[in-house]
Amino acid sequence: MHHTPLVILIASVLASGCAASHSNDVAVPPPRRAVLYQYSVIDGLLAGVYDGDLTMAELKQHGDFGLGTFNALDGELVLLDGVSYQIRADGSVRVAPDGERSPLGFATFFAPTQTFTLDAAVTLADLQAELARRLHPNAAYAIELRGRFANLTARSEDPGTRPYPEMAAHMAAHEHRFPLTNFEGVAAGFWLPPYLGRVNVPGLHLHCLSSDHRAGGHLLEFLSAGRLTIRVMELDVVELAISKHPDFQAVDLAHDRKRSLEQIEHTPR
Ligand SMILES: [Zn+2]
Repeated sequence: MHHTPLVILIASVLASGCAASHSNDVAVPPPRRAVLYQYSVIDGLLAGVYDGDLTMAELKQHGDFGLGTFNALDGELVLLDGVSYQIRADGSVRVAPDGERSPLGFATFFAPTQTFTLDAAVTLADLQAELARRLHPNAAYAIELRGRFANLTARSEDPGTRPYPEMAAHMAAHEHRFPLTNFEGVAAGFWLPPYLGRVNVPGLHLHCLSSDHRAGGHLLEFLSAGRLTIRVMELDVVELAISKHPDFQAVDLAHDRKRSLEQIEHTPR
């Protein structure tokens, strides 16, 4: 995937060099942009749109790192090193087939621009405070954590059945929390500004996977044990693919669902 863009870049530099000899314009090749690709919007999921047309194969064309969910809201999705993992309500983990579909997914090609470590035992709230100190409040970032955790709580949920209720109502009855101890693994996700709050999850949103690929989910809280390595990638562009699924086309998204998002994500900023 790196070879073709490089060839194009060289070709465009050569072409612009020729063009420059015939005019006063200095053509500069466009910089490579760090793109957060997303299919559909968080407000759709909150409103009960649990089905979409995004396949895992398509999601992976737009990134090797990210998160989301699956059709019918059948568990949590974490995309790591180009592999999409599904963590179901019973806590089981499997590699999702390429044809599996999703109503909501976020991805980028992860290329960290800064790395830092935290050696003291920290909680998710401590990490959020540290990120708030280090990062620009109105910028957007992909975030990866690696390390060991004395304890960690992840969650998944039962799939919905039609007619789908709004997500807050579904989660009140169907969320499953997994209190895990001595968890070693990785978490992938995003740190996004408040103004993206109706299309994505503002603040820190992480999905985790254990090193042995046997546990994970939407990350709710943790206490680290030993060194935690945090890699950060600043994003330049958000590319939003609008769902063409009939459920999405029919749903009423006129009002703000911020409060139900806070209730579900448990990730205050
Ligand atoms: Zn999540």
